[in-house]
Amino acid sequence: MEAKQLIIMVIYTILVQIIAIIGYKVIARPKRKMLESAEKRKTEEQDINNRIFLHMTDGIIAFDMEGKIVLINPAAKKLLSISPEDSNFEQVFGKFNLDINMEKIIYLENWTSTEERIEVEDRFVKAFFAPFRNENDRPAGVIAVLQDITEHVKLDNMRKEFIADVSHELKTPITSIMGYADTLLEGEYDKEIQQKFLNVIATEARRMAKLVTDLLTLSRYDNNKNQLQKEQFDLGELVKKCQDKLAIEIKKKGHDVNCFVTADVPPVYADKSDVERVVLNILSNSIKYTPDNGKISIYVGFVYNDAYIKVLDNGIGIPEEDLNRIFERFYRVDKARTREMGGTGLGLSIAKDLLDKNGGSIDIKSIVGEGTEVVIKIPTKIK
Ligand code: ADP
Repeated sequence: MEAKQLIIMVIYTILVQIIAIIGYKVIARPKRKMLESAEKRKTEEQDINNRIFLHMTDGIIAFDMEGKIVLINPAAKKLLSISPEDSNFEQVFGKFNLDINMEKIIYLENWTSTEERIEVEDRFVKAFFAPFRNENDRPAGVIAVLQDITEHVKLDNMRKEFIADVSHELKTPITSIMGYADTLLEGEYDKEIQQKFLNVIATEARRMAKLVTDLLTLSRYDNNKNQLQKEQFDLGELVKKCQDKLAIEIKKKGHDVNCFVTADVPPVYADKSDVERVVLNILSNSIKYTPDNGKISIYVGFVYNDAYIKVLDNGIGIPEEDLNRIFERFYRVDKARTREMGGTGLGLSIAKDLLDKNGGSIDIKSIVGEGTEVVIKIPTKIK
């Protein structure tokens, strides 16, 4: 080989290598980098997926064809109180008496009812079941998605109870009005009996009217239609005004009512008509639920940033087991007796709503047979 040819070959080899290096730099290295970053992205995505799976509030369990758990997140364990020994479909769902099994979900073609409601201790869980398939489109198992619906169920029950209560509360006076009116229409009665029947009709009609007014108040507050009209006013004066408004009822029952106002109570800042409504309710409760010739004391004072009204009576009192329920709508300690007294069971729940809206609070202590103490607090500063 000639020296010239040799030089050409060497140069050629060098050129090929240079091209190879350049090619590697231009094509292969970025490609490897691309592969590396795709892999990194994939790991990151997987990491995010794992974190979502671990921290999501809905529960997820996947079962293989044998019913064994292949995937489960902490939410599912918590929602169904799954113990470490529970490892298959039967152990997880068997105890809930559901009308489902793996075969049904996987093989039943017209499987429609994929949703089940499960009661676990004091919780309600909604479970969706669906089959899943492998890459060859063959059945590979079942996936269960679990949702905590406890709050939803509670609200739904409250709504049903509320409708039942309202219907019942309205039905009682309507039945009695209809009964007395029909009796009057059908017979010839002397003036005295007519008067008695008409009195019952008037009382029942008034009770219905009060109930409807209370319901409208509640509904207005529930829909936030009532705008608060806060202003500064004197609490002692308002309490005395309420006492005057109830003077007839107080006199009828022969109660001894005294109001004591401490000198240093600054003006309160709240919706005056709301506070008046609350005070009227509390005071009329004390009048109603205290036997004749009872003693009612009202104190108006000031602690920290709040002014307070304390109403103390020596009435029938409220049993301890009822105390934490009396703020519920329609809750009455003795339904029949309080209904006779004209109560709707809505007064205290309205009072609580109104005070909450005005930044105040209400607290009741009571001993059966001894009496009841109600304390309401109302803010004095613009909050
Ligand atoms: P009501 O319209 O029936 O008076 P409230 O919501 O104002 O409704 O009160 C709820 C229940 O709490 C009453 O039915 C009554 O049983 C009880 N209660 C409220 N205040 C008193 C009180 N001062 N003394 C005894 N029981 C009371």
